[in-house]
This record gives sequence, C-alpha cells and structure tokens, in this order.
Amino acid sequence: QPSHNILHEGNHDMADTLDTSHFWMPFTANRQYKSRPRLLAAASGMYYTTDDGRRILDGTAGLWCVNAGHCHPKITAAIQQQAATMDFAPTFQMGHPKVFEAATALARMAPEGLNRVFFCNDGSESVDTALKIALAYHRVRGDGLRTRLIGRERGYHGVGFGGIAVGGIAGNRKHFGPAVPGVDHLRHPLDIARNAYSRGLPKHGAELADEFEQRLLALHDPATVAALIVEPIQGSTGVILPPKGYLQKLRAICDKYGILLIFDEVITGFGRLGAAFAADHFGVVPDMITCAKGLTNAAVPMGAVIVRQDIHDAFMQAAPEDTIEFFHGYTYTGHPLASAACVATLEVYREEGLFDRAAAMAPYFEEAAHSLKGLPYVKDIRNLGLVCGIELEGVPGKPTARAYDVFQKCFWDKGVLIRTTGDIIALSPPLIIDKLQVDQLFAAIAEVLKTQQAIPQTDTVAA
Ligand code: PLP
Repeated sequence: QPSHNILHEGNHDMADTLDTSHFWMPFTANRQYKSRPRLLAAASGMYYTTDDGRRILDGTAGLWCVNAGHCHPKITAAIQQQAATMDFAPTFQMGHPKVFEAATALARMAPEGLNRVFFCNDGSESVDTALKIALAYHRVRGDGLRTRLIGRERGYHGVGFGGIAVGGIAGNRKHFGPAVPGVDHLRHPLDIARNAYSRGLPKHGAELADEFEQRLLALHDPATVAALIVEPIQGSTGVILPPKGYLQKLRAICDKYGILLIFDEVITGFGRLGAAFAADHFGVVPDMITCAKGLTNAAVPMGAVIVRQDIHDAFMQAAPEDTIEFFHGYTYTGHPLASAACVATLEVYREEGLFDRAAAMAPYFEEAAHSLKGLPYVKDIRNLGLVCGIELEGVPGKPTARAYDVFQKCFWDKGVLIRTTGDIIALSPPLIIDKLQVDQLFAAIAEVLKTQQAIPQTDTVAA
C-alpha cells in the first residue's frame, strides 16, 4: 500500500458531516481528494486553520496569491465598506470611482510606459484579453496579417482557449481539440539551462532565444506573428528560471520584427521577486503585462492587463469617435469589491514595504532552500526572490507520487502547506514570512524527505 493512500486519524468534525459530492473540484483528483478531504476553515497572516483547529503554515500564499498575508485588516475593511456602499455597478458605458482609482494605482506601480489598464476577473481572462488586444492592435494599425501567437513549452497561461493554446502543457490542451490555430511554442529553458542546485539565474541557455529568431525565419514569416507570451519565471510547471540574458534577447528579437512581447506576471507580479514586477527585477520592459492573484491579495477575484500607452492609443485613433474601440469586456470588469480590494492591497504593499521585505528575506530563503541539497530524492533546487522549486526524483510510471506523498505528510503531520506540480515542490510564501517561519517550512520538508521510503512503481511500467 503506497504511503500516500494511508488514512490519517483525526477529529474531522466538518469533514465527517460535509457532503462533498456536488462540487466538481478544479485541477483535482476528485475521487482521491474526497476519500480524505483536506479542509481549510479560517486564515490569518501566515497561517490557515483547518476544520479541526490545526494551524497550517502557508508556504504557498494560498495559490501564489496572498502576498500580504491572509485577511489583512485594511483590505478586509475596504471590501466590507465597499460591499455596504455599492455592491455592483456596470463598467460598460458607465463607471464608478474605485475602478478608476484602481487603474491609476496599478499604472503607477507598473514599469514606465505601461500605464493603461484593462480589468478582468482572473489570470486566465487577463491572458485571453492580452492576446485579443495584441491581435486587434495589429489590425487597427492595418497590419492584420499578424495573426500568429507564440508561447513556450511548459508555459502556463491559465485555462481560457487562448491561454491553453499558447500554454505549453499538453495535458491542458489535448482533451479539448484544436483550440486556437496558428500557435507555436518555443523550447523551455530547463533542459538546456539545468545546472542542478546552482543559485541565481542559469548562466547558459540564452541561446534558446536565438532559436526564436531562427524559428521565425524558418517556419513563419515574422510579419505574420502578433505576439510572444512568456512567464518571466515559469511558475506552475516547476519554477523554471530564465537564463541570464534570455529575456533581454527575446525583447530585442520582438523589437526587430514588430512582435509584441507579453509578460505573464500572474505569479511573478506584486513582489514575488522583491520588486513590483519581474519586468523591474530583470530590467526588461514588455509591451503588456498580465496579472491577477496578488493584485487584490486574492481577497476578491481580479485580473488585469497593463498596456503600453501607445498600444492603447492606437485603438483611440480609429474613426468614428462614438464607436466602441475594443469589443471586449466582462460583466465584472472593474467590479466595485475587486476595485476596492485592489486599491487597498496596492496601498498595503507600499505602506508596509512588502516588496523590499521580500528582497531582504530572499537570501535567507535561498540558504534555507539549499539546505535540502543532498536529502533523499532531491534532484534540483531552483529559487529566486521568494519562490522556490524543489525537484524530486520521480517514481517511474507515477510522475506525481513522490511529491504528493511529501505534500500529504507536510499537511497532515507537519502543519505546513506546500504545493506540488508533477514531482516538483513549489514554494511561494506570503511576503510577510519571517525567518523562524522560513526555518519551520524547510525543516518540515527536510524531515519528511528524510523519512521517504521507496514508492512502488506501477506494474505496467515495471513490466
Ligand atoms: N498565468 C499564469 C502565469 C499563472 O500562473 C496562472 C495561474 O496560476 C494563470 C495565468 C491563470 O490564472 P487564474 O487561475 O487566475 O485564471
């Protein structure tokens, strides 16, 4: 019996009485989960509390999103006040003050030149919105041949049709047929740039960006390409760092051929790397940034595309002046509660200096991460800012079993929430984490790894 199937004993009042049959859970092995539900009932600062009253240290900021810590009083109060003042107002041919305030605050935080903001409800919508802006931008300028979109292998850009098309995770695409045509994917840097346990950015691998240019010239007419979308750090598929100089090269190639560069900063935005955006950290300014998650500290769903001013302005040139310039939007674009949460969250980041705090904590976090080197099954450790990927040796035929086992034991036995993707542990704590909590997080993982036992591989693969 694999250890991850062992049921842990405990007093799970809520779990015992809750009907879990109706909620079809996202990106979840529903049957496995429902055989032993993990329930989070409350949250504050760095901690969750489970339904049976256990405190769980949050090593993942929820889902890479609660950057200021849970239930921040200022953000909570702003949402409560907005809910009591005005629950909803449309933003189609209408507006309310908070959405304009939110856009202004976000534009001020963004890299110079990116100062027009389109709001949506999450990261997936921000990606699809950015891709549509890119396609429509070329058309509005009379360059409508530019219809191709380029992403990367192992890229994750959410679950909209645009996002799964430019995304590079086969499992997210292949079940749904031929989504968006004309999409190509660059190789991800890990295979070339892997230098196990090295710290900082990989020294080699920037040549992968040259492949982008070669592919443009060999496979596509560059004049048919609308946009390249990349995550500055590929988060969801295991914290894959860009090689030194790689993003700069992508920028230069995009400039050379008139291709828009989109940074998907849904994870890297709002302090994860110790700066407002990864664009600031790497000193590479894209044409558009997609963001979500930390935009409202995840207290209310919200996403946004931050756009270079002249891209926005190109839409405003088209005649006649009383026509809708961009045929796109959501009922909840700029929802008052989300807008209030956004304004309060961006203030919290600034007032509490959380991005600087993350930058200051990063070296300590890095030391702690690399203290896992040499423990059983640890194959690679990658980190930057307050994000870290710990790659484990997988069990043949069971590509997620090892990390899932560690995840389960961390949660049930150690009171620590980690995240796994395949056989990679991903950590991205709230930016308010202190040194003792960093120690607790990595000590828990180390203890679990030290007791790791062989997990039997499946018969089919063994045969
Ligand atoms: N883009 C990136 C880089 C992400 O990491 C994610 C989610 O993790 C998304 C897009 C999708 O965001 P959402 O789940 O809010 O739709």
